[in-house]
Amino acid sequence: MICLGIESTAHTFGVGIIDNKKVLSNEKTVYIPKKGFGIIPRDAAQHHSENGLEVLKNALTKANLKMGDIDIIAFSQGPGLPQCLRIGAVFARTLALKYNKPLIPVNHCVAHVEIGKFSTQSKDPVVLYLSGGNTQIIAFAGGRYRVFGETQDIPIGNALDMLARKMDLPMPGGPQIDKLALKGKYFELPYVVKGMDLSFTGLLTEAVKKYKQGVKSEDIAYSFQETCFAMLAEVTERAVAHTDKEEVLLTGGVAANKRLQEMLRIMCEERGAKFFVVPREYSGDNGLMIAVTGILHNKPISIEKSKIKQKWRVDEVDIHD
Ligand code: AMP
Ligand code: MG
Repeated sequence: MICLGIESTAHTFGVGIIDNKKVLSNEKTVYIPKKGFGIIPRDAAQHHSENGLEVLKNALTKANLKMGDIDIIAFSQGPGLPQCLRIGAVFARTLALKYNKPLIPVNHCVAHVEIGKFSTQSKDPVVLYLSGGNTQIIAFAGGRYRVFGETQDIPIGNALDMLARKMDLPMPGGPQIDKLALKGKYFELPYVVKGMDLSFTGLLTEAVKKYKQGVKSEDIAYSFQETCFAMLAEVTERAVAHTDKEEVLLTGGVAANKRLQEMLRIMCEERGAKFFVVPREYSGDNGLMIAVTGILHNKPISIEKSKIKQKWRVDEVDIHD
């Protein structure tokens, strides 16, 4: 079974191809916003529509395949920015109709979890899913992925990007903050955990205020990371205790952060849990994660049912019907 997966929820347009469990290709192009701006949905969608075909061609060439060799076409149906989702959906529908292939809808958050499990061989982890658009602590229970904790306001990746922009750093901001933090010293920032949920806006406002007061960028970057990551580690630890699971998996774009990995590794060692991190090449949005999920949850839909689902939550997806 060969699956072609299409990702287009936000900044990335990606096409990945997998033959059962054998990765054949994973090509992408990433929209980078203008300096000082976040993602402008219309511009990102324009970028995807202008570059999508090239990405598809590259993915097929790398896999040494033609469209006729593909068995199923999977696409990110949501959640995401509607303008961007629509480009991927139109792309997938067009290919499915033209080449007469089954069309498989994939939930983008489930795909981040599945690529994490696929690439690390973890079996049944508590998943810390951290990206530009999402921050959730997820675990499989009773036939679906359930959310044990999540942000009540902005996602962690978004918070890091916004802080970087306020400090005049280029996008994406996460890696910039990561680098700066290596030279920073700690000062206290608001630590906001409410039950199993988290909040990052107060912390962001305070950090920006300190920057405007002249506190060094390095110290802000370090203290911001230490505070956010401690909050995330606390909630993850409680989810592990509550669910009795023996594995923790870190996935999504922010998983690339070494300090976050270190903090979670220590927490897992202390609890006797196994710790897994999605490899860097699969941590950010990509087409392969959609292809992997398309193979695992192969439930074709008609073109009529393929409308995008902008707010499709991970816990609304039936894994076993
Ligand atoms: P995604 O939405 O899953 O593609 O992830 C993108 C997010 O990951 C952006 O907010 C980036 O700033 C963030 N990111 C990427 N690398 C790092 C890093 N090393 N440390 C923290 N955040 C990162
Ligand atoms: Mg993502």
